[in-house]
Amino acid sequence: MSQSLLQQVQKLRQQLEQYSYQYYVLDNPTVPDAEYDSLYRQLQQLEAQDPALITPDSPTQRVGAAPLSKFGQVTHTIPMLSLDNAFDTDEFQAFCKRMADRLDSTTEFSFCCEPKLDGLAVSIRYENGLLVQAATRGDGYTGEDITANVKTIRAVPLRLQGDNVPAVLEVRGEVFMPLAGFAAMNDKARAAGEKVFANPRNAAAGSLRQLDPKISAQRPLMFYAYAVGAIEDAAGVLDNQSHYQRLMQLKDWGLPVCPEIRLVTGAQSALNYYQDILSRRAALAYEIDGVVIKVSDLAQQQALGFVARAPRWAIAFKFPAQEMLTTLLDVEFQV
Ligand code: NAD
Repeated sequence: MSQSLLQQVQKLRQQLEQYSYQYYVLDNPTVPDAEYDSLYRQLQQLEAQDPALITPDSPTQRVGAAPLSKFGQVTHTIPMLSLDNAFDTDEFQAFCKRMADRLDSTTEFSFCCEPKLDGLAVSIRYENGLLVQAATRGDGYTGEDITANVKTIRAVPLRLQGDNVPAVLEVRGEVFMPLAGFAAMNDKARAAGEKVFANPRNAAAGSLRQLDPKISAQRPLMFYAYAVGAIEDAAGVLDNQSHYQRLMQLKDWGLPVCPEIRLVTGAQSALNYYQDILSRRAALAYEIDGVVIKVSDLAQQQALGFVARAPRWAIAFKFPAQEMLTTLLDVEFQV
């Protein structure tokens, strides 16, 4: 391996680690996501040229960042991983082909298509229907205990309703701040001469990771469920269901699920979904940075499995960047 390649890789890693720390731990990014994504891509490409360069602590192999020690820690029995990205149609088609080749299948996939909500991932644990714990993703294996803060989000049920609720159910989803609440909160802060938030994602992360849950309670936070983690389900309600059916079941138990989620057949229909959501992006009540396309069949998901930090059966199909660097750098953050 050449020295200059190694130096390039080390420089990229150092930069990405610094940006990740500011983004995930301090909730205070200093560069736009598009810039982070582009450096990340460069690192991925260099590592692909020479896999001997890959180290277990490389940002391409890791999820998020270690949890802040000011919170209690929660170990995720099922890790909370990240998603691979596609930035154009070719990359999306390549994702579909990789899966078809791996499964040696020519049948079109059933895809669950979901908006990629721009907030932060949380895992909420229900025991016998009662909310007992909530945690951030952290580094995917250990997150921060934010139970008291999540309990202040009105959309999150404290008790699940309906029949056959599992003995244990971990619900994964995104906490985010709808645009109207974000604008109203910033207007109020501006009128009071206080600092404003840079964007809804930062506002959501900063609001949720407060040591004083009374502050979280005043913030207009929302939650949509998009996956299931650990399950202990003697009645087997969630057995033999697809990912999409599981989300509909979560809805029946009283959990909020994004109304834009659709079940489609085949790559072209997933591409149509991407175009449709992109064309309506500005009219949505919350910020999104793409769509997530997931194979809905759980047996196929299992057969495809995971690689490094992400499942092989899902992809974040990102929208073109719209965020400006100046917007981020000119505004001070309140957390
Ligand atoms: P990711 O955002 O690409 O994908 C994983 C995350 O997507 C999940 O953890 C979840 O929170 C979210 N998500 C939203 N809707 C979802 C859905 N329907 N189903 C599943 N997941 C859904 O990956 P990441 O590991 O969280 O981080 C990478 C992102 O963070 C990139 O967009 C990157 O630009 C940004 N980032 C920016 C900086 C910066 O300095 N600006 C630093 C680090 C990371």
